Amino acid sequence: MISLHGLTKEFPGGVRAVDGLDLAIADGEFFALLGPSGCGKTTLLRTIAGLEAPTSGRVVIGDADVTALPPGRRDVAMVFQDYALFPHMDVTANIAYPLRVKKVPRAEREAKAAETAARLSLSELLARRPAQLSGGQQQRVALARAIACHPAVFLFDEPLSNLDARMRLEARTFLKRLQRELAVTTVFVTHDQGEALAMADRIAVMSAGRIMQVGTPSEVFQRPANTFVASFIGSTPMNLLPGVAEDDGLHVAGAVLPPAPGVAGGEEIVYGLRPEYMDLADAARKDAFAGQVSVVENLGTSFLVTLEVTSPSGDHLVQAVVPEDAEPPPGARAWAVPRHPRALVYRHGALVVP
Ligand code: ATP
Repeated sequence: MISLHGLTKEFPGGVRAVDGLDLAIADGEFFALLGPSGCGKTTLLRTIAGLEAPTSGRVVIGDADVTALPPGRRDVAMVFQDYALFPHMDVTANIAYPLRVKKVPRAEREAKAAETAARLSLSELLARRPAQLSGGQQQRVALARAIACHPAVFLFDEPLSNLDARMRLEARTFLKRLQRELAVTTVFVTHDQGEALAMADRIAVMSAGRIMQVGTPSEVFQRPANTFVASFIGSTPMNLLPGVAEDDGLHVAGAVLPPAPGVAGGEEIVYGLRPEYMDLADAARKDAFAGQVSVVENLGTSFLVTLEVTSPSGDHLVQAVVPEDAEPPPGARAWAVPRHPRALVYRHGALVVP
């Protein structure tokens, strides 16, 4: 449905915001562009929208190469982070604006605006101006404006970032349901990995203008392809511990763990394990990271425990999520035991696939 071919956007001064990117987004897909600040997400979205011209490469929507077309001729609707509503227009006029630009007769566009407003629970607010609306209501007006003209593609730039934490959770569910109902191909930009995991059908994780991995939420969460994605995805960061493969197993931060298939003796590796898959023991064992509890953080129904581990290969922090009432006191000696089958082994930054 949307395909990008060798897309590059270089700004004056030599910043390559998008760097030779290839990507295919399927019809009806809810697709997230995820990455840290400055990785090029917004520039990529704006290039799809036609608000930025690429330095090289092509943008194809449906069957048409739209690289040279202006935004108005691409059949896309973009919702901006700040919603970009017209302050002097009421809700009806804001929603109907793109239809007015398309010269749809007044009665028809007002009927369409009212119908779309009803769908987004805005019917009571049609006569208000943006300044008289809450952030969440403004967001729904911006969505209604995008929906009213039936585009082939929605482009959302951090659509939830101006909402408070509680409303953001509600808006996630709402937006996902709406996208399902409308089945319109949607690309949305976010720096919030939780948001991308919760909402998207597939996610492209970006860094420095490039795509580090494309996959479903469970693929990028369970099998991050490289240490960048591994460290970026997850509400508590993955443990990524340097080690060496020896004949008797992986030597990692003082622990000796089962050998990894496909890794030769003497090779340097990074051992990746989510804190949720790390258990605490109160006695020494060979396959555990021995350390001292430095911080205990309350996560609600569980605790995040940070151990300071001193080993022949250096000092490391190892984190474990433990059930409530099982958390050790700060300062205690503890042993973090990895659930080894859950571990991911990286070599030269890339996942070793057995
Ligand atoms: P954020 O989450 O902070 O919005 P982002 O991932 O959306 O970040 P972009 O806004 O696409 O990142 O910016 C990517 C890079 O391009 C950054 O280094 C930024 O400074 C640079 N950049 C963006 N717009 C311009 C511009 N108009 N001129 C020059 N450099 C720019």
